[in-house]
Amino acid sequence: MVTMEKANIDWVNLGFGYYKTDKRFVSNYKDGKWDEGILTTDENVVMNESAGVLQYAQTCFEGMKAYTTADGSVVVFRPDLNAKRMYDTAQRLEMPPYPEDKFVEAVCEVVKANLKFVPPYGTGASLYLRPYMFGSSPVLGVKPANEYQFRIFASPVGPYFKGKPITIKVSDFDRAAPRGTGHVKAGLNYAMSLHAIVTAHNEGYAENLYPDALTRTKVEETGGANFFFVTKDNKIITPKSSTILPSITRRSLMYVAKEYLGLETEEREVYLSELGDFAECGLCGTAAVISPVGKIVDHGKEICFPSGMEKMGTISKKLYDTLTGIQMGRIDAPEGWIKKIV
Ligand SMILES: *Cc1c(COP(=O)(O)O)cnc(C)c1O
Repeated sequence: MVTMEKANIDWVNLGFGYYKTDKRFVSNYKDGKWDEGILTTDENVVMNESAGVLQYAQTCFEGMKAYTTADGSVVVFRPDLNAKRMYDTAQRLEMPPYPEDKFVEAVCEVVKANLKFVPPYGTGASLYLRPYMFGSSPVLGVKPANEYQFRIFASPVGPYFKGKPITIKVSDFDRAAPRGTGHVKAGLNYAMSLHAIVTAHNEGYAENLYPDALTRTKVEETGGANFFFVTKDNKIITPKSSTILPSITRRSLMYVAKEYLGLETEEREVYLSELGDFAECGLCGTAAVISPVGKIVDHGKEICFPSGMEKMGTISKKLYDTLTGIQMGRIDAPEGWIKKIV
């Protein structure tokens, strides 16, 4: 049980946005090695005008959350998987990977240094953690930078998804090329998704469903969340593709479906042509955990899921309640899923 003074924030009405907190972690890579890293109060980054990140977008990130649990502890959900994924991303971008154990330690330090910003239990809010890394030394020819900075900041966020099931469209843009960078959390993937999401929003859709770029017949994911589908006989299906970002939430939900709810699960190719056969559809990611999808519009053809536009489908709700129950300490977690900070 931690008793401490909390920041004066209207937790329940928090949105999902940047909120400056007290301390962030900074480590620099120079002369072939990472330094020890420190916590700092300075939220600004100053770097050379020709830094690798500014010229050629050499940057990547992670996202995870710290929560106050039912018994008043503060925990982080599976940070080791974020550490591993950022390691893989860095390698793909020719950046020096940040050691996985140091990553987890730094995450814990940042949460500890910002405990007053960890939302109280029961508010639905959480402390979002944003680890990221970028090339900080000057480059002009296209090549990897020599120096890098790894940082982690924290920002309290409200529940990302508050309302009803969403309507999304099959995008005319591609997110990830075969053999490209769709499977890693590279900043460049999100820069080039902005035009697609602004276009979708202007047309009245909440999100884009990106089909596979090669054949445009299969479901991949949205700009920031993986898909899952529930069949009419309650089987959980998630698309399989080498260009999908491996969501930790999706992997956790699939485990929960099988081991906690006794549901059959399968990761396989999902065709746009079979969307009408499913009973429920959801998006999954750290920000929202699950956002129910009520309708998918594929160039004028409307696919309406039987779960409807009013509430989350029955199975999606069970998945949501079980995973958030595990995260909030109401349900026993699988070994190693919960990293206790205090
Ligand atoms: C971050 C991200 C996700 C969700 O991953 P989580 O680990 O569950 O937060 C899904 N798709 C894309 C493209 C992402 O960037």
